Amino acid sequence: MTKSEQLELIAKRIVKDKVTPELAASATQLVMGEGSPDAEVVFVGEAPGAKEDELGRPFVGAAGKFLDEMLASIDLKREDVYITNIVKYRPPGNRDPLPEEIAAFKPFLLEQIDVISPKLTVFLGRHSMNVFLPQLRISQAHGRAFRKDGRVYMPLYHPAAALYNGGLREQLLDDFAGIPKVLAKIT
Ligand code: URA
Repeated sequence: MTKSEQLELIAKRIVKDKVTPELAASATQLVMGEGSPDAEVVFVGEAPGAKEDELGRPFVGAAGKFLDEMLASIDLKREDVYITNIVKYRPPGNRDPLPEEIAAFKPFLLEQIDVISPKLTVFLGRHSMNVFLPQLRISQAHGRAFRKDGRVYMPLYHPAAALYNGGLREQLLDDFAGIPKVLAKIT
């Protein structure tokens, strides 16, 4: 089975297993993720927003535009990487995902990452960081690489948080510039 087929099967199981039925009922559709199944870098955000819910694609709203810009700053395109979220349905009114929703999706996110097997997994925001590295604070951990269970992780601030905060925007661009350096060190 190809990696794409394996990723398809994960999506089918989320629907069949009725993961977070309330979210599934209020959302328009499942937003699984997109990009290259052979990506060296996987980006994990929180949950789809209104635009993502409408289009069925991750990070296609304002935060997504900034993500595209940051990718371009290190010569990457969306097609070169894989972009997903912890929670795959839009929470109503864009509220934060609940701990039980995060827990319900965690096994599927782990499977997605296992299938793609990237060199580096980048967390966009503290929620996705805390799924993997619960003891860390984003203010101290952003832009640094962490090795755990044979994988390498890098937490970053969430791009949405930087939209109205020039300082965070600069920090994010700065942290992003570290991604190629971290990749070069991973064999
Ligand atoms: N914010 C996220 O965390 N994920 C998206 O897909 C869009 C905005």
